Amino acid sequence: MLIVIIAGAIMLAIMAAIIIGATLISKKCPKCKKFSLKKVSEEELERVATTRNVRKDIKDASGKVIRTEYKEIPVTKITYKVNYKCKNCGEEISKIRHREDKPLIY
Ligand SMILES: [Zn+2]
Repeated sequence: MLIVIIAGAIMLAIMAAIIIGATLISKKCPKCKKFSLKKVSEEELERVATTRNVRKDIKDASGKVIRTEYKEIPVTKITYKVNYKCKNCGEEISKIRHREDKPLIY
């Protein structure tokens, strides 16, 4: 039991480090190298309706997986541009990002 808790804590610490690291990198200004980029605006470039195959485990009353079903769900793939401005030197940059919108219920 203790090992599970320790493993869980380590996993959480790693995840937190990755999230913090990614946030810092995304805030780093390419010009003055300071972590002072601030998001100023966001514009949508493209929106594509597509489908994704999702896996769903069907469980019995005790929580045991009795079968696995695959289902096609509609998703929207969105490509968008995020504009940043450096609070330190005023440099303006933009980054292309992708996002997938899933329906809430499927
Ligand atoms: Zn800067």
